[in-house]
Amino acid sequence: MTQSYDLLLRGGTVIDGTKAPRFEADVAVRGGRIAAIGDLAGARAAREIDASGLIVAPGFIDSHTHDDQALLSQPDMGFKVSQGVTTVVAGNCGISAAPLKAGMDLPMPLNLLDAPGAERFTSFRAYFDALRRQPASVNVAALVGHSTLRAVTMDSLDREATPAEMRAMQDLLEASLEAGAIGMSTGTFYPPAVKASTEEIIEVGRPLSARGALYVTHMRDEAARVMESLDETFRIGRELGVPVVVSHHKVQNRANFGLSEKTLPFIREAMGQQKVCLDCYPYTAGSTMIRTDRGMLDGRVLIASSEPHPECAGRDLADIAAEWGVPEPEAARRLQPGTAIYFLMDEGDVQRILAFDETMVGSDGIPLGDKPHPRLWGTFPRVLGHYSREVSLFPLETAVWKMTGLTARNFGLAGRGTVAEGQHADLVVFDAATIRDAATYDEPTRPAEGIHSVIVNGQVTWQQGRHAGARAGQVITREESTA
Ligand code: ZN
Repeated sequence: MTQSYDLLLRGGTVIDGTKAPRFEADVAVRGGRIAAIGDLAGARAAREIDASGLIVAPGFIDSHTHDDQALLSQPDMGFKVSQGVTTVVAGNCGISAAPLKAGMDLPMPLNLLDAPGAERFTSFRAYFDALRRQPASVNVAALVGHSTLRAVTMDSLDREATPAEMRAMQDLLEASLEAGAIGMSTGTFYPPAVKASTEEIIEVGRPLSARGALYVTHMRDEAARVMESLDETFRIGRELGVPVVVSHHKVQNRANFGLSEKTLPFIREAMGQQKVCLDCYPYTAGSTMIRTDRGMLDGRVLIASSEPHPECAGRDLADIAAEWGVPEPEAARRLQPGTAIYFLMDEGDVQRILAFDETMVGSDGIPLGDKPHPRLWGTFPRVLGHYSREVSLFPLETAVWKMTGLTARNFGLAGRGTVAEGQHADLVVFDAATIRDAATYDEPTRPAEGIHSVIVNGQVTWQQGRHAGARAGQVITREESTA
């Protein structure tokens, strides 16, 4: 009997997301799942894609995003699906779209998630319900932000939480995990959480332990005190007995260039005692809220967005300060709230961290304005094209693994991240010879090249440089991920 499928990818070369060598095979999809892999010459399908000469891989999982609100306000998620991304992990760096109070003021950087007029979600249940009512084009797994918990619980953020406030935050975290959040993130680098002690984070994080949920952190310091910050991170993971993720691992500021030669062996050593993961974006510039402290103004600063001065997006802070006749910190203050791009890293460190065996790829893109950091549109093709093909930092199979199988394993995203029968049909078809990021600091929203087709839960979502209109993204909860 002739098998019949919904979708058939014919004649491609499969890189399955496990780091195993590539192999020739057809891939068939039925009911949103991968139904068959092999020689399917006799099979028929409602729709076929000619993948000859192309790679068929698991859809990429963006391990580090700030897409919480964008999933609702920009549900096509073109900046992600155009790169081959089919799943995003949201709620990073201590900030999440829930739980919030209607009408509350959001301190920076919590306001980075807020689309004008966006609905405020008082619970994760309400946030996930909204995403299920109006699905986006990619799947989402979400973390609860510790800074968000502080902002919704405390009357002042300039101090450690009281025991009663910690209990209130625990209750909110517990309810969020119950609704399907996969862990908690912190951002002790940022003003809303600078005053949170290690003990506060451990106390608030107690509900993570029973579920083995993740502790994910934008650490207190990624500069001169990065080793102490790693130590704090590992301690929190040990005391809670949960896996930790070191977010966007980097060493910043010129004085600290080369420090990854120390941080990586330290991370490797910790991995021998406890569960530790890390992610990284493939650029020497970072991007975050506009800051005024000297350390952040160390190198070139490019303004990405500014609420009071939208006309300054895309310009150098130094030029704006000169034009206004004020020092740079004062110009930065006048541009707040907004976002900027900071050139603070060394290429050698970026390559060393990216090449480290266990490093996942995450974009850390901020989906805001016309002049975002190019990582928002370019991260995954940049790793595949620039760092794997051109720089030969690792084989293509390893590059794919760092953005699929490894990430699914670390975040517990069951049924995702590999090409195998029975898996959810999240797939990307790309040309290994031409894939490249086209987004630059000058033109940051140019879609990547070499992505042929992107399939989310069996639905063709991107094809030949165009969005196909599908919005088949699912909320990935722990119930599913532990199933
Ligand atoms: Zn961060």
